[in-house]
Amino acid sequence: TTQKAAPVHTRSQELQQRAERYFPGGVNSPVRAFRAVGGHPPFLESAEGAYLTDADGNRYIDYFGSWGPMILGHAFPPVVEAIERAARKSASFGASTAAEAELAERVVSCYPKLEKLRFVSSGTEATMSAIRLARAATDRKLIVKFEGCYHGHADGLLVKAGSGVATFGIPGSAGVPDQIAHLTLALPYNDLVAVEAAFAAHPGEIAAVILEPAVGNAGCIPPVDGYLEGLRAITRREGALLIADEVMTGFRVALGGAVERYGMDPDLITLGKIVGGGLPVGVFGGKREYMDLLAPLGPVYQAGTLSGNPLAMAAGLATMDYLQEHAGEIYPRIEATAKAVAEGVAAEAKKAGVPLTTNRVGAMWTWFFTPGTVTDYESAAKSDTAMFGRFHNSMLEQGVWLPPSQFEAAFLGTAHGEAEVKATIEAAGEAFKAALGL
Ligand code: PMP
Repeated sequence: TTQKAAPVHTRSQELQQRAERYFPGGVNSPVRAFRAVGGHPPFLESAEGAYLTDADGNRYIDYFGSWGPMILGHAFPPVVEAIERAARKSASFGASTAAEAELAERVVSCYPKLEKLRFVSSGTEATMSAIRLARAATDRKLIVKFEGCYHGHADGLLVKAGSGVATFGIPGSAGVPDQIAHLTLALPYNDLVAVEAAFAAHPGEIAAVILEPAVGNAGCIPPVDGYLEGLRAITRREGALLIADEVMTGFRVALGGAVERYGMDPDLITLGKIVGGGLPVGVFGGKREYMDLLAPLGPVYQAGTLSGNPLAMAAGLATMDYLQEHAGEIYPRIEATAKAVAEGVAAEAKKAGVPLTTNRVGAMWTWFFTPGTVTDYESAAKSDTAMFGRFHNSMLEQGVWLPPSQFEAAFLGTAHGEAEVKATIEAAGEAFKAALGL
């Protein structure tokens, strides 16, 4: 093998120092800081298709896709043009535009269960609002969530959360009053017995069960057979709402997300990431009887200065138009590409003697550095995170940018092809040696 020179990061290091002057940890969102894998993150300057370019001109194959949204690749021309056109007409009105209902039509045609919806500006807002609605609709206080699932950073949803909360090994968040945290029951994922027990212990008190139908935020964990159907049956019997948080899985694991892939029938659905084409958009919606509880029709308050923002709607529309038009080709292809890279890298681990468990749902997957099957947060947490860190660093040095935590899912999109898969598998051979400390 040819020994490539290690990439230079001089400019990124300067930018890091400046960022640390202003931002806690140098970042505006914790997992970006690379604390879990060691070292400092390169600063990004531009990206095109499947490739990221950092401030020193180094290029990387992108396997985090801005944490999910960039399914059509970076700077996808129809999206760029749509944003430019919209910007010329004003970045924001704070009043209604045609584009909002146009995007809503696209979203509803992928998610027919959304009888009504609202656009917000983040996944956090979407889940926070869905929870408030569920409490109002049921006149109950308790929420069931699952360990390792992440639903944004609202107070009640950080209890035993995934993503950065899991990455940094913190049980929840300081600053959340006990009285609020106690309203959240965190149960193991993929375990219907635990859900039955919670309803038995709190009869008539649980407003909603919220979940990632296929988990991404503890790393990728698929639902076991019968789990989603079981949750639906229990919640229906108990008069609680079922909330499918599809901020990550929406338009990713199928055009109609997990609801389509697994044939779910949730009461409320939350979306984000892909629906905004890289701009800040979230969605919450579902049954009309619940959505009509929102102000100005009903007593549940929810609002946003930039909700339905015209640039965000334009980017979302361009993304959704393309996805819908080419769905029959795109989803099988990105799944096949993801399968090739996930399995190709797993084969390199086997050759190198590194115990690895690969979980994948469509074009989202995780390589867990553990020999055991991963079905919930507890089994994910058995992973050797130090080994993952060495693997991650080596991949990055070789020009492959993976999510910088064992407890995150990797993504790819339409711009990834055979050349990227091949380069990634080659890099993995080296990276597993580094992981072993060889
Ligand atoms: N729900 C899920 C399932 C998510 O993956 C995320 C973000 N990773 C959120 C909610 C929160 O979304 P945001 O970061 O846009 O607030």
